[in-house]
Amino acid sequence: MSEAEIPAADADRRPLFARVAQFGRAVMGVVLDTTLPPLCASCRAPLGIPGGLCPACWSRISFIAPPYCERLGIPFAYDPGPGLLSMEAIADPPAYGRARAAVRYEEVARDLVHRLKYGDRLDLVATMGGWMARAGRELIAEADAVLPVPLHWRRLWGRRFNQAAALAKVVAATRALPVLTGALARVRATPQQVGLSRSERAVNVQGAFAVTPDGKAAISGKRLILVDDVLTSGATVDACSRALLRAGARGVDVLVFARVVAAARPPI
Ligand SMILES: [Zn+2]
Repeated sequence: MSEAEIPAADADRRPLFARVAQFGRAVMGVVLDTTLPPLCASCRAPLGIPGGLCPACWSRISFIAPPYCERLGIPFAYDPGPGLLSMEAIADPPAYGRARAAVRYEEVARDLVHRLKYGDRLDLVATMGGWMARAGRELIAEADAVLPVPLHWRRLWGRRFNQAAALAKVVAATRALPVLTGALARVRATPQQVGLSRSERAVNVQGAFAVTPDGKAAISGKRLILVDDVLTSGATVDACSRALLRAGARGVDVLVFARVVAAARPPI
C-alpha cells in the first residue's frame, strides 16, 4: 500500500521511517520553494543567479568609489587630488583612522539592509559582504583582525543574529583574518539612534561599549577593522573605536555596507 492510499485515520500507524521521510520531503519542499527561482535581493523579481540584483535595482544602487575623503570616505563631487580631507574630517576628527562604505544609504541599499536585519535573509550576506570587501580592500590588506559592532544581548535575542557579525565574517574570509566576535561588548542598552541629532547620538552611545577581558589580549597591538551595516553620524563606530584604542588596539578602521551621504560636496 502506498503512502497516498493510507486512510487519514490510519496515518499514525505508519512506520516511523515513513513519517520521518514525509516530514523530510515537506522540509525539502519548503527549502526548494524559497530558493528557486533566484529572486532579486531588493524587489524580488526572478533572476538568473541567486544573491544578485535585477537590472532595474542595479541601476538604482549607488556604489561609492573615489574620489572621496581619505579619512571619512565621504564622496567628493570632483577629484581634488590625492590625500585631501573633507571639512567634517578636519573639524571633528573621528577616533578611527579611515571609514569606507560599499554603497550610499539610499532606497535599494535601505531595502537590502532592512531585509538582512529583519527578514533573516542570510543569503544576502555574501553579496553585501563581497561589495564591502571590494570597497575596503586597502583596509583589509593592512588589518590583523575584523570585529563587528556588537548588539546588546537583549536585542540579539529578539533578532536571533547580529547582521554586523555576519558581514564581518564575509569580509574577514577574503584574507582569512580572525573575527573577534566577543572582543567588544555593548555594556549598556542604548535607545535606537533613529530620529536623534548628531550630538544626541554621540551622547546616546557614550560609555555603551567596553572591551572584554579576553578581548583585551586579542586586540592588543592589532590593527582592526570594525564592521557595521550602516553608518549614519558615525557616533556608534566612534564610541567603539575609542574603547578599542583605550584597550590597546594599534589602529581601528571602519567598514560598513552603506553610509548616509548628505549630498555630493566639493572638498574644502
Ligand atoms: Zn530588483
